[in-house]
Amino acid sequence: MNLINDSWIPVRHRNGDHALIASWQITEQHDSNPIVALAAPRADFNGALMQFLIGLLQTSTSAKEDEWEELLEQPPTPDDLKQQFLPHAKAFELAGDGPRFMQDCNLPEGEEKPIAALLIEAPGEKSLRDHTDHFIKRGGVNGLCSACTAAALFTLQTNAPSGGVGHRTSLRGGGPLTTLVIFDPKTAGDDLRATLWRNLWLNVLEKPSFLSLGNAKKTAPADIFPWLAPTRTSEAKTGKQTTPEDTHPAQMFWGMPRRIRLDFKNTEEGHCDICGYFSETLVTRYITKNYGVNYTGPWKHPLSPYNVDKQGVPLPVHAQPGGVSYRHWLGLVQKSSSRESAKIVTQFQEHRKLFHQQFRVWAFGYDMDNMKARCWYEATIPLYELEQAYRKHFEGTVERCINAASEVKNYLVRALKEAWFDRLEDAKGDFSFIDLAFWQNTETDFYGCLQDLADSLQTEADKSAAMDRIRERWYKVLVSQAEAQFDQWATSGFFEYENPRRIAQAYNKLRRQLWGKKLRTDTLELPLKSEQPVQEGVLTDVVTV
Ligand SMILES: [Zn+2]
Repeated sequence: MNLINDSWIPVRHRNGDHALIASWQITEQHDSNPIVALAAPRADFNGALMQFLIGLLQTSTSAKEDEWEELLEQPPTPDDLKQQFLPHAKAFELAGDGPRFMQDCNLPEGEEKPIAALLIEAPGEKSLRDHTDHFIKRGGVNGLCSACTAAALFTLQTNAPSGGVGHRTSLRGGGPLTTLVIFDPKTAGDDLRATLWRNLWLNVLEKPSFLSLGNAKKTAPADIFPWLAPTRTSEAKTGKQTTPEDTHPAQMFWGMPRRIRLDFKNTEEGHCDICGYFSETLVTRYITKNYGVNYTGPWKHPLSPYNVDKQGVPLPVHAQPGGVSYRHWLGLVQKSSSRESAKIVTQFQEHRKLFHQQFRVWAFGYDMDNMKARCWYEATIPLYELEQAYRKHFEGTVERCINAASEVKNYLVRALKEAWFDRLEDAKGDFSFIDLAFWQNTETDFYGCLQDLADSLQTEADKSAAMDRIRERWYKVLVSQAEAQFDQWATSGFFEYENPRRIAQAYNKLRRQLWGKKLRTDTLELPLKSEQPVQEGVLTDVVTV
């Protein structure tokens, strides 16, 4: 199968029809019944296939700034795309004797693995030995069709976790977080409508901007697609490290940390264990060897946010337990002191004049526990229309609002522990459910405040009054949510014995913090209120017990 010329990518058209298409067919029927989304049988495959197609467009496009916007509106025809992709077709053969897509070109022998091991959540050998494969059982996947094999291979090389000695991680480490800019699917009316083409093209940089991310002088095909030449292996003493200086920047989409060769000699006939389609040649195993390409140095993949350490070294952001929500705004959508949002997100907000409709950031990735995938997370976060002149005001206010939320969440968690336990040292265990509930319950109000802030900055003359008003509004949300959630959890009967006096003391302390100088004045820059409002209800009564 050739991954450029053959039909293997599962998609959904606007009218709901599903189809398998070749890569260059993504703009078919764009004016009448466009393709609106990928439709892979697994969410992580969809995330990977988006990056496969973005990578293909980014690698083959020569679009400059002025052409970019035109193409967003009026895409190239499938024939144009075919001409654009064809020069690379040789690198996209999945099987055969020559170079094979994302497979080591010279791997006569290696450790034999069942095809299920290509899936990120597959239990590793240690888990199998220790019988800790509780969630993902062995034996569920025995044969994959070529399309699912290709998707699984690309997913693994793009996200590769550490896999034991010398089994390298992906160019962005194990299980990177990816952030794409997409159209809000609810756009309607005269707006540009969300199609797969447009959501892909939003994530392609103009050529000069992309080339600045690496060594554009490295133009040999194997500098882009590493499987076209013998692997730059990374054995302890004799191997090489691979830095941005050593390859073309497009290798960021085509990294090959794992040395893999699929076995097409011992295939079986049957139904694919992932998509269910019948195939005469299900792939059942592959061979692998350690010490594949070891990506080190200051790589900056355009689709991922990075933490920047004290020495200025970029470290890719990974998903964490609890998933993605508005609390990750700083860093995913706007820069913070320690985190840079993805190049594609900053480029969009600073240079692409496309507003007048709603866009979102789609963030996704695995939460990895070293070699094991604990969970797949994805979420979308809205972006707001704003002229560049007001962006600083907007970002400053948002940063204060998020810091305030984080502070209030900490007050709440501590207050609840003090309400539940005589001694804080006894408060052991996982209290992340409180965090999660707090973030979820304040999310709608947060985005409401941001929308109001963006609108007000654009339309009102007194920007500073607008920012004060939004911070005051957000403050009220935080106080009422903290009090309501304290009330709900403190007396929820979770713990064997409730102590009304202890609960009342914790509540009073929480209120002092909520109305205190630190939160209102230092964090939110609001004037201090002279008195706390009188509270009514059960908890106030308890104080007199
Ligand atoms: Zn399949």
